[in-house]
Amino acid sequence: MSVANNIQQLKKTLPKEVVLVAVSKTKPIASILEAYRIGQRIFGENKIQEMTAKFEELPKDIEWHMIGHLQRNKIKYMAHYVHLIHGIDSFKTLKEINKQAKKHHRVIRCLLQAKIAKEDTKFGLSFSEIDAILNAKELQELEHIKISGFMGMASFTNNQEQIKKEFLALKKFFDSQKNKTATNIDIQTLSMGMSGDYQLAIACGSNMVRVGSAIFGSRNY
Ligand SMILES: *Cc1c(COP(=O)(O)O)cnc(C)c1O
Repeated sequence: MSVANNIQQLKKTLPKEVVLVAVSKTKPIASILEAYRIGQRIFGENKIQEMTAKFEELPKDIEWHMIGHLQRNKIKYMAHYVHLIHGIDSFKTLKEINKQAKKHHRVIRCLLQAKIAKEDTKFGLSFSEIDAILNAKELQELEHIKISGFMGMASFTNNQEQIKKEFLALKKFFDSQKNKTATNIDIQTLSMGMSGDYQLAIACGSNMVRVGSAIFGSRNY
């Protein structure tokens, strides 16, 4: 199957309101262009340098999403173009994004990463830590970011019940935060689901899926 075919098949199974982030990390420009030619405009990367190199080479109507763990000292390299940052797990990182966005007179949309998996290898914040960030007075001073929702990764397991439990917990938390009304908080996006679990994630209320290998094939590191 080709990249174009994979996307077309995948799109048929996605509800209209679910946004597809095509995760192109480690994949060449040619594969991204194949997806672009059939209309895909949203791509996800997990390394800032790799994403920036691709941004520079590819058409400028692509929306680039940073989905990986962030190194704060590299945020400046993507502040002029990044569309949405998914993997934020500290207030310090939000402050740095705000500082860099300000230099470019931009407001950068951010998702806080919730820790929903049981393994302790996954990055992320507990629900109470997210709550503390959203209610912090200091947050109101960050005029160049907008917190537009949450991202979560389920445990790496075949146990569907476990995965479902984790996704549902984040959906419930997401729903409980939708009414927050600060100027830089607008909780709309719930980024959950990858190649192996996006259907379950959507059934649990995800409205943004990050799909890599099911589109581009498996990755060789
Ligand atoms: C790589 C990656 C994905 C895509 O994973 P696939 O299993 O290839 O679909 C999604 N989210 C994050 C955070 C990733 O790092």
